[in-house]
Parts: sequence; C-alpha cells; structure tokens
Amino acid sequence: MSSVFTQIINGKLPADIVHEDDQCIVIKDIHPQAPVHLLVIPRKPLLSLAEADDSDAALLGHLMLVARRVANDAGIGHGFRLIANNGAAAGQTVDHLHFHILGGRRYGEANL
Ligand code: AMP
Repeated sequence: MSSVFTQIINGKLPADIVHEDDQCIVIKDIHPQAPVHLLVIPRKPLLSLAEADDSDAALLGHLMLVARRVANDAGIGHGFRLIANNGAAAGQTVDHLHFHILGGRRYGEANL
C-alpha cells in the first residue's frame, strides 16, 4: 500500500501543491498547525529520515534549499520552523519522509 504522499505525487489524491520539481513536491498541510504549514516531500518514498543514507545527501540538501525558497515565497523567510518527525514515537503518522515548514506565528522555546 503506497503512502498518502505517494498517491498525491502520482496524482491519485488531490492536494494543494505550491512547488514541484523532479525530486520533490511541496503541499499545504491538510490540518495546518500554523498560518503557514507546508510539507516538503521527496518523490523517492523514503520511510523516514532514519532510512536515508549517504546516497541521499544531494536529495536531502535539495529539500532544505526548496524549503528555504518556498518559505521565502510564502512570506515567512524571516522566521520559520523546519521539522521532521522521525518514527511513531516522535509523532510521525505518514510513513514517507517529509519536512514540515511552520510559520506565520510566534514561536518560543516553551512551545516546542
Ligand atoms: P507527521 O505526523 O509528521 O507524519 O505529519 C503528517 C502530516 O501530513 C500531518 O500534519 C497531516 O495533517 C498531513 N496530511 C495527511 N494527509 C494529508 C493530505 N492528504 N494532504 C495534506 N496533508 C496531509
């Protein structure tokens, strides 16, 4: 069974796509936790960051730079969080690597 994100990448499920290229897509989170809540998702179906290895170095760098670009485009380049929940114990619910971009609200050390 492919992940919900693979189904979105394959056009089987709808999503609000704000960026796509040959290596990744960026969509709006369906249950936003901040005024801006985007998900950077590699086309490669890595289960999580723990599954990545040295051969994924360029891909992971690309995802970071795309995150930077879409955060700027969304007007939150001055302050945003980039989060990967790694494993169920960390709250990962979709088994396909993704980075959350969160911004547009004030974050402090107390509200991790
Ligand atoms: P995580 O809990 O880190 O695995 O994050 C999964 C995220 O995917 C959650 O924030 C969900 O709201 C989001 N999500 C799940 N299904 C969809 C979908 N069909 N379209 C957009 N976001 C989704």
